Amino acid sequence: MPVKGWIEVNDLYCKGCELCIAVCPPDVIQMDSSRLTSKGYHPAMLKSDGCTGCGICAVICPDAAITVFREPKKKKILVELEATDG
Ligand code: SF4
Ligand code: SF4
Repeated sequence: MPVKGWIEVNDLYCKGCELCIAVCPPDVIQMDSSRLTSKGYHPAMLKSDGCTGCGICAVICPDAAITVFREPKKKKILVELEATDG
């Protein structure tokens, strides 16, 4: 199962350069054309599920506007089955 991740984009820093869109492997980032930041840019946003939390967008962002979150791995629960004496 793919790792589930998500990002948050800080409007204060995003300048709409679209670099994050270009590098996202599953192509799940788009510019939010319905909003403008206080500086007048359309900010980046997640457009769909599928973010793996790889962090590439945060690394490439020149303005450190992206924070990446990743769902913690689920611990395997080991169940010991007791052998029944026949
Ligand atoms: S790389 Fe950073 S500044 Fe550029 S659009 Fe993406 S979040 Fe905004
Ligand atoms: S963390 Fe990876 S998969 Fe998620 S939006 Fe950024 S580049 Fe795309």
